[in-house]
Amino acid sequence: MSRKPIIAANWKMNMTPSETSAFLEPFLSTFSEPTSVDIVIAPPFISLPKAAETVTDNPAVALSAQNMSHEASGAFTGEVSAAMLKEVPVEYVILGHSERRSLYGEDDAVINKKVKATLEAGFKPILCIGESLEERDGGQLEAVLTTQLEGSLADITAEQMADVVIAYEPVWAIGTGRTATPEQAQETQAFVRSVLTKLFGDDVAGATRIQYGGSVKPGNAGELIGQPDIDGFLVGGASLDPSSFADIVKAGAAG
Ligand code: PEP
Repeated sequence: MSRKPIIAANWKMNMTPSETSAFLEPFLSTFSEPTSVDIVIAPPFISLPKAAETVTDNPAVALSAQNMSHEASGAFTGEVSAAMLKEVPVEYVILGHSERRSLYGEDDAVINKKVKATLEAGFKPILCIGESLEERDGGQLEAVLTTQLEGSLADITAEQMADVVIAYEPVWAIGTGRTATPEQAQETQAFVRSVLTKLFGDDVAGATRIQYGGSVKPGNAGELIGQPDIDGFLVGGASLDPSSFADIVKAGAAG
């Protein structure tokens, strides 16, 4: 089954509104026509309106938020709702990133509420899962990923899965410069797809895009995208430089 690769820039807490324009202007001139990959940029909330202004009418690039509250409105200091993101607008929302899980205590039950809220609002969640090095070395890789998928996707229907992107990000490879080998990533992503088959059936599993994330760079993107179960990337550090992110996109489009 052919799946359109999706390559997303997760800027995390980097890029002010003016830095966002300075990045996007040259980047968008490189990608002004639709390409064979979906390109997604996820700036911090404060820079999303500037990104939306700059990206307007560019058919190649979509925007993502890095998080969203599952609550609709009210006394939730510091949170951002679906209605707010609709006014930007964004198409995707990253959920369950390992930094949200480890630094802000988000567990699968909370992430599941957020996945439901994003889908109900018409956004496409990019659901992050991944194991720590301790879990991998301790032989718990499959159990951890299964628990994360079952918990985060509880009560999601096969139809709704058409809008869900999974990002497999081994925690030990995020921001460390240590990438999973293409073989390790492939083997694990094939396992993730097998869990999706158990949960939703072959058709959904075959159609779901599974990104790899963890120290993706222009130099390793080509080899990674060549793996059959890697359908794109979620890129942190290397997405902060327009030319390096453009090279990763080009590697994805060539793969
Ligand atoms: C990420 O934060 O999702 C990520 C993969 O970061 P990096 O590319 O810097 O490892």
